[in-house]
Amino acid sequence: MSLDVPTLLVVLALMCQIAALSFIGAWVRRRPERHVILWASALELAAVSCVLLLLRNRIPDLFSIDLANACSLLALGLAWNGSRAFNSRPVRWLPALAAPAIWLILMRDPSIAQSLPLRITVISLLSGVLSLAIAWESWVKAKDTLFWRGPFALIPIVHVVFLSVRSAVALEVDLPADLLQGGVLLGVSILEPILMMFAATIIGLLMIDERLKNVLKQAASTDGLTGLLNHGAFMDRARARAANVQRAESATMLLFDLDRFKQLNDRHGHAAGDAALKCFAGLLHRSVGGSELVGRVGGEEFAALLVGVDTGEGWQLAERVRRDLAAQPILHGGRGIAVTVSVGVAAAEGPDVDFERLMMAADEALYSAKRGGRDLVFQAAS
Ligand code: GH3
Ligand code: MG
Ligand code: MG
Repeated sequence: MSLDVPTLLVVLALMCQIAALSFIGAWVRRRPERHVILWASALELAAVSCVLLLLRNRIPDLFSIDLANACSLLALGLAWNGSRAFNSRPVRWLPALAAPAIWLILMRDPSIAQSLPLRITVISLLSGVLSLAIAWESWVKAKDTLFWRGPFALIPIVHVVFLSVRSAVALEVDLPADLLQGGVLLGVSILEPILMMFAATIIGLLMIDERLKNVLKQAASTDGLTGLLNHGAFMDRARARAANVQRAESATMLLFDLDRFKQLNDRHGHAAGDAALKCFAGLLHRSVGGSELVGRVGGEEFAALLVGVDTGEGWQLAERVRRDLAAQPILHGGRGIAVTVSVGVAAAEGPDVDFERLMMAADEALYSAKRGGRDLVFQAAS
């Protein structure tokens, strides 16, 4: 196999440039994303490093060897910081600058500076540590479960395996003194980053896109004021959950409607109404528990679907929420505002819970609670 090192370097520089532009394009559209600009800068620096390497023998070694490799190490440091920023963690400049600094200091030692195998070993070691740091940050430090994280973290691992093999081979075989005249080993040393860069760019962009889609999906299903599920999301999820209720398992629907809420708005203002809605949503969420389905299904209407909870337990829970709300006025603008809630409770046994009927029964019970004088929990006849 014959691999022309200068041609491969031109390809790698162009690849880095195209990849950097793809990230800059993503950044221009969604400006606050720091990780995108850090990754783009890493690719730009990698391109600069390739150009400096290409100019070997035309510019002083200080630029074509020392600075070129310092740029590629700094590029890895920026990529690591990009992964930190992607995890919403602060950028750390010291470790990112340490690797190029160590390299530049070691290059002052003539025994290293004049030996290509030793230079390869030092660069491989420093690059290996930074690559492992990128993999660690991308996989171990992740707080989400994005599918593309795994493949993304695998790229630096594969790179470390390659660097280890390359160092071992470099110490064994006779390498040409001039990098640009290099044979298969040096050719493969540039071919490998081309492939890694290509994979990292595609997978990195897919990962950014995956997270954006998740954020949009989350926003589309969340009520902006209370943070609970919105009407559409609650109905879809509750309908699907009801369809999955097992034999001899009960499903209980609680429908909550804040009492005389229009009056509260008229008396205390819309902001006070909003504060009451938020406060009630918090109380409901805490009382029902995080694993249950809870949503804001109307302006001042809320619902909870409890599976594995029978009608008696459901009633008790609703009664506790009603009592807690009535007992604690909502604080707004230095005043305590009394708020009460009426609740309708309906239950059904699995399997094949008819969700629409369950909802209707809870709604009728709620109206009975309203007719009964409000601040009441009413249970549908089963
Ligand atoms: P009832 O006891 O019979 O339920 O009386 P109500 O006044 O609560 O019921 P009604 O349906 O007449 O009024 C509901 C009110 O809820 C009207 C509307 O202004 C208010 N509302 C709906 N969404 C919001 C919101 O997001 N913020 C605020 N502040 N008020 C809201
Ligand atoms: Mg209402
Ligand atoms: Mg109401």
